[in-house]
Amino acid sequence: MALRAVLAYGAMHKSVVAQERVSGIGLTKEELQRYSRHLIMPEVTTEGQKRLKAARVLCIGAGGLGSPAALYLAAAGVGRLGLVDFDRVDLTNLQRQILHGTKDIGRSKLESARDRLHDTNPDIEVELHECRLSSENAVKIVADYDVIVDGSDNFATRYLSNDVCVFAGKPNIYGSVFRFEGQTTVFAPQLGGPCYRCLFPEPPPPESVPNCAQAGVLGVLPGIIGMLQTIEAIKLIVGIGEPLIGRLVHFDALKVQFRELKLRRDPQCPVCGENPTIFAPIDYDQFCGARNDDASVPAISVQELKGKMDARDAFELIDVREPFEFEIARIDGAKLIPLGEILERVEELDREQTLIVHCHSGRRSEQAVRLLKQRGFANVHNLEGGIDAWSDFIDPTVPKY
Ligand SMILES: [Zn+2]
Repeated sequence: MALRAVLAYGAMHKSVVAQERVSGIGLTKEELQRYSRHLIMPEVTTEGQKRLKAARVLCIGAGGLGSPAALYLAAAGVGRLGLVDFDRVDLTNLQRQILHGTKDIGRSKLESARDRLHDTNPDIEVELHECRLSSENAVKIVADYDVIVDGSDNFATRYLSNDVCVFAGKPNIYGSVFRFEGQTTVFAPQLGGPCYRCLFPEPPPPESVPNCAQAGVLGVLPGIIGMLQTIEAIKLIVGIGEPLIGRLVHFDALKVQFRELKLRRDPQCPVCGENPTIFAPIDYDQFCGARNDDASVPAISVQELKGKMDARDAFELIDVREPFEFEIARIDGAKLIPLGEILERVEELDREQTLIVHCHSGRRSEQAVRLLKQRGFANVHNLEGGIDAWSDFIDPTVPKY
């Protein structure tokens, strides 16, 4: 029993930060004061704090999950914090992306994040990677870091970050949120657990999984999941506790319930299995079907729609969003038929007429176009970018949500 405890302690106490790097680190008088609440814990002490200072953590995304993660990692004294993002701060972000403030609207998320993080802790280095993480740049970016916190919101980036972390032998801390629920785990095949592909060998069909912009998310939810990811990062760096390797924690905010699921490695996994077949990044947009090269869904731009309206062309505009969305914002003349009702109300539509279908961002309407084509509608088009693009490029008086 005692031996087991000692062995377990030894196994747990392996930091992911190379000891050579930690040895060269000292703490200033100011730092001793700043981190005093850490230092007085026997599990951390100055040794653990030096590991944090020596550590390099990459946050993929400076959004809902990346906000709390980056803020707490900075506050905890992680010496080098990398951020990957390409977006600008938008008013709809502020309900959950607490790295950014109202004054930052329109600014690059990374610049806004850097200012906020340096305010929290001027002693840390913040490295900005202003780009979309891609098959071309991911291996190089990830190489500089000890731990990766994946705060991405799409499947293509999740598979990409998983794969490059497996190639590089780095732990990838996964988090995802949906409405009132979220989940997190640590993917680290090199430490005995599965990777993302072990659980999900194939991505879901793109139209089957709505993102936060379509399904909504309680603003505080990514806060909780992002902080759980941060705790895992800190544990891996300091070398304490039991990391969430091979375990997935699911949180339900409405029930205030945490559930734990055991995860297993798949020996057939194409990246971390016994006979891997993938050794370098692939084309993730194609793999996840994110690219709109589906010729079966003809598309029309908001500018083309405006042209048709101005020219008084004959067509019918169908809005496949939900009634509460129609209440928030609508395009004049659109007929509301929610996606879930489109097949039972198909007789309301004129097969001879040109149909233009729109939704919030263009994904539900794409699915509606597919369904209508399967029912024999020949002249049906998807409005690219949905009412969001209409508001951006044609009519700014249409509220965005
Ligand atoms: Zn795997």
